[in-house]
Parts: sequence; structure tokens; C-alpha cells
Amino acid sequence: MSYDLIVIGSGPGGYVCAIRAAQLGLKVACVEGRDTLGGTCLNVGCIPSKALLHATHKLHEAEHNFEAMGLTGAKPKPDWKKMLAYKEDTIGQNTKGIEFLFKKNKVDWIKGWASIPAPGKVKVGDTTHEAKKIVIASGSESSPLKGVEVDEKTVVTSTGALELGKIPKKMIVIGAGVIGLEMGSVFARLGAEVTVLEYLDRIIPGNDGEVAKTFQRILKKQGMEIITGAAVQKSEALKTKAKVTYKLLKDDSEHTIDADTVLLATGRRPYTQGLGLDKLGVKLTERGQIATDKHFATSVDGIHAIGDAIEGPMLAHKAEDEGMAVAEILAGQAGHVNYGVIPGVIYTWPEVASVGETEESLKEAGRSYKTGKFSFMGNGRAKANFAAEGFVKILADKETDRILGAHIIGPYAGDLIHEICVAMEFGAAAEDLARTCHAHPTYSEAVREAALACGDGAIHA
Ligand code: NAD
Repeated sequence: MSYDLIVIGSGPGGYVCAIRAAQLGLKVACVEGRDTLGGTCLNVGCIPSKALLHATHKLHEAEHNFEAMGLTGAKPKPDWKKMLAYKEDTIGQNTKGIEFLFKKNKVDWIKGWASIPAPGKVKVGDTTHEAKKIVIASGSESSPLKGVEVDEKTVVTSTGALELGKIPKKMIVIGAGVIGLEMGSVFARLGAEVTVLEYLDRIIPGNDGEVAKTFQRILKKQGMEIITGAAVQKSEALKTKAKVTYKLLKDDSEHTIDADTVLLATGRRPYTQGLGLDKLGVKLTERGQIATDKHFATSVDGIHAIGDAIEGPMLAHKAEDEGMAVAEILAGQAGHVNYGVIPGVIYTWPEVASVGETEESLKEAGRSYKTGKFSFMGNGRAKANFAAEGFVKILADKETDRILGAHIIGPYAGDLIHEICVAMEFGAAAEDLARTCHAHPTYSEAVREAALACGDGAIHA
């Protein structure tokens, strides 16, 4: 078969690229080797973890807030098998949804693992397909850690954590990043004793420092033990347990702890195995990512790359935006991604969301800025809903009042952040947000109050 475009990989980057390119009139195929479409995100990442986070958040609510709201009676108990079935059903609905969208948009799904024997050619099994253009959207895999051997049973990555045989009594999480804290939250809410070991002296590196401190305090209150400045040296899987040895950086002391399950969550790396990039001469960055220019073109003519396989934050929505942009470029349009306005969300409770600059990055760049902060304690809806922990912080240029970044820890922060993203896309000032009527009573009033706090002051503070 011959196509205008063959996309390799059907994760959020790949499938969105394929659909957009087909909508723009190209003849498109997408190669996927898994049994279902959707890549890591839909099959073993974003979607299944959100199902488990949702279920366990409801359990937490039932255990902690129902009585106070006048909801009494037998308390729900987790049934892990049923919870996993709910998770699988959620995955199925979503992956089948992509299959439907492919059919609707006339995107061919080529089943199997692809390699690129030469520019313009994609080989899957014994068949070689012709393609005017190729987009690599092959995603990422968990990075290994020296001394830690993953068996996906006792020592697991996020993939194994999503299908454990039973709820562990004790769990050690290596890495206090997004995966570690999301999955750590799931099992802590299910009753596991969770200890998080983090190399740095803080959690969620790259996020606003004040948010990170508040988040750490809240997680501790929820029962999670977080040990920072802990360099993990090795983990040994015993019969039914695993031992983890770490060194505390402050005094070089060595410690060993054990648990039923160890989750390795120290980052991900691009997955480009088997594509044949070496032979083709596709250049990689020092960190093993596929090097691309502003139009997602690799060093080899006719081959483009997007998503986790290239530089930038490893986020599904960043990949989606790049997928749309490259499809538009290949169809002769001006595709574009604004990397200054890509939100990041951690789907714990409370949620953590951020966009744009942090105070740390602004200080480092020597820029003058002002801060407008508002606590959810001053938000009536949050108080009524037992969700008043956290705050909204907006950073604006000191002279022009233009919004430079925002950081939220609180209820539905991952949804609240988007009005600030839109404001930033339009180059809005904090005053523009502050003068926008926000419905009462909503959590989003806290965003407006933070914007007001950039000016003459919040009302309810
Ligand atoms: P991460 O980069 O977010 O966090 C890894 C953490 O591990 C860091 O805090 C790091 O300092 C720590 N670490 C590294 N080496 C260590 C060691 N030897 N001992 C102890 N700690 C160590 O990585 P992740 O949580 O694995 O996530 C991988 C990628 O997937 C990230 O890019 C993340 O953004 C993405 N992801 C995003 C979401 C989301 O958007 N909600 C969810 C899951 C994953």
C-alpha cells in the first residue's frame, strides 16, 4: 500500500496526528503493535491510573467526609479485583473509541511493529508500505535505575503497579515525581503503608517550590512517608518481598527497608527501539531523544518525530499538540505549538497544576514579577466540600501585569488551570482575569481572587 503519511505509534501524539492529517485530506495509516490503540497513555498510563485515582478518592471521601455530611451507614470497602475490572473497562471504552475514530476518518490501522528500512518506506512484518512522509510517535518507556531489577511483580514500574495481584500492605516508591505520587496515593488510600524515597531535597522537581512544600505536608497528613535526600542504591527481590537500600545524602548513612511491592518511578526515556534509526542516520540528542527542528523534521528528509520520543515535557497533551501541528505542517498549513503554555497536572487529591514560569525560573532569569495568591480557605464552595486545602498563585509581570505563570494546589486544579492557560494564550493581564465575572459559588472564584490579589487585593482574604 502507498500512503501520503504513515504514523508510527498510536498514543496521544500518533493517533491525533493521524486523525488530523486525514481530516486535512491526506491518505493516512497508523502502525501500532499493541493489541489495542492508544499507546501507553490509554493502555497503561494516564487513563487506567485515573480510574484507580477516581475510585480510591471516592473511598477516601467515604471514609473521611461522609459521616460529617450526614451520610451514615456501612462504609464501602475496596474490592481490588472489581476495581481492576472497572479500570480495564475504562481502558476498553477509550481504546475502542480510537478504533472508531480511525474508521470514521478513514485512517488505516496497520497492526504490528514498524521499522523504517529507508526514507519513504515502513516495514511491518513481511510487508513494506510506501509513504511520502513518516511521523515517528513511538513514545517512551520507564528508565531503568542501576541496582534495581524490575520483575513487574514485586519490583514494578507504573505498568506493573496498575495490575498488582493484591493490594500491598507495604509499598516503597522510588522517586517523588508525578508517577510516584499518583500511584503512591492510590495505594495509600487503599490502606498500604507507603514510603517514598526521593533523591532531591524536595518533591515534584520543576514545580513551584511553595506548592511542593504544601503538597508534601498534605501527603504526609494523608499518611504517606516521604524521605527526601535519599539515594537509592539497590533493591533485591526476595520470595514475597523486596528490600531497598538507600543512602541519606545529609550524613551518608545507609538504610535498608522492605516492602511487599517496590515501585520504580524515576523517570521515562524515549522508546525508539527496532525502528532502525541508526542505519537511517537519524540524529539523536545527548539524552537519546530524536533531534527535530521547529517543524518536527528529523535529520533525515521525509521523517518527522513528535511526543515523548523528542525533546520537551513527556506529557500526553504536549504530544497531542505536536501531532496536530505536524499534521497541519505536512498538509501545507502553519502548525504551531506554544511551549510557554503547556499545563502540567498531578492527579492526586488535592490536584496540583501549573503553567508557565515558576517563581524560581523568574528569579533565575532576573525578571521582576508580582504574586497574587489566594487560599481555598476563603472559597465557600471548597469549604462546603471539605476541599479547602491549597491555594492559587498567579505570577504576573511587575510592570505590565501580563500573566507569566500560575500554580494551583487544590480541588480540580487540573481543570481550573485552563482559564489561566487561555488567558496566557491571549496575552492577558491579571486584571483581565480579575475583571471577568466568575460564577458563585465555584472553585474557579479562587482563580479570580488570586488575579485580584495581583492588583488591589482579593476580597475574601
Ligand atoms: P519524574 O521525572 O516526574 O520524577 C522522577 C523523580 O525521581 C524525581 O523527583 C527524581 O528526582 C527522582 N529520582 C531520580 N533518581 C532517583 C534515585 N536514584 N533515588 C530516588 N529518587 C530518584 O518521573 P516519573 O514520575 O517517573 O514520570 C515520568 C514521566 O511521565 C514524566 O515526564 C511525567 O511528567 C510523565 N507523567 C505525567 C503524568 C501526568 O501528567 N499526570 C503522569 C504520569 C507520568
